[in-house]
Amino acid sequence: MVKICLDPGHGGTDPGALLGKRYEKDDVLRLALAVKPLLEAQGVGVVMTRTDDETIPSISERCQMANTAGCAYYLSLHRDAAGPAAHGVSLWVHSRANGPTVRKAQDILDELLAVVPTQDRGVQKGTPQNYENFGVNVYTTMASALLELGFITNADDNDRFDLYFDGYAEAVVRGLCKAVGVTYTAQDKPAEAPEEETVRIPTEELKAAYSALQAARDATGEAIEKIRMILGV
Ligand SMILES: [Zn+2]
Repeated sequence: MVKICLDPGHGGTDPGALLGKRYEKDDVLRLALAVKPLLEAQGVGVVMTRTDDETIPSISERCQMANTAGCAYYLSLHRDAAGPAAHGVSLWVHSRANGPTVRKAQDILDELLAVVPTQDRGVQKGTPQNYENFGVNVYTTMASALLELGFITNADDNDRFDLYFDGYAEAVVRGLCKAVGVTYTAQDKPAEAPEEETVRIPTEELKAAYSALQAARDATGEAIEKIRMILGV
């Protein structure tokens, strides 16, 4: 059985990036725990570097778990951090990653960008000027990538992460299946008991209301900026 290592970044005493009480370590663990059973349903074995909020002493120790288990692919899950405006999705591979490794990362990125539009920050190779190489791409003996699924420092990215969480989890699964050559099969949802009354969920209306709220928030921010400039405060 082909195996994949899922590595939810940080954990325990290392919260990763944060915004208020929202920690990167929690977001990525939640995602990994959602992806794991979906991958297993596709017949893929999953090795997790952590399954709860624990401290893992070193990056090389995480990689060793995958190397020892003979995993075919290693995906480290992270959320990015920068100023409040920065947003979007990227995957990082080793500076000397070969074509197939770049292709696998691109497949995962394409799946994620298809869930909901956001900035495509591309498949990035480490360079001496900009994160030489992430440890997960150095110490692993199989193809690997580090995913930055949106910025925890950007409100819209956090909304996307929460609202489209299930879609993102499924997208990661589709991308990973492609990466290890497993044909993805859509899984039937478990049968639900018939309801006495049909409740229509107005998805399109909710999306429209969400867009309107976003626009209103942006407009408020701009108005505050203008007043600040006029008052010089
Ligand atoms: Zn991180």
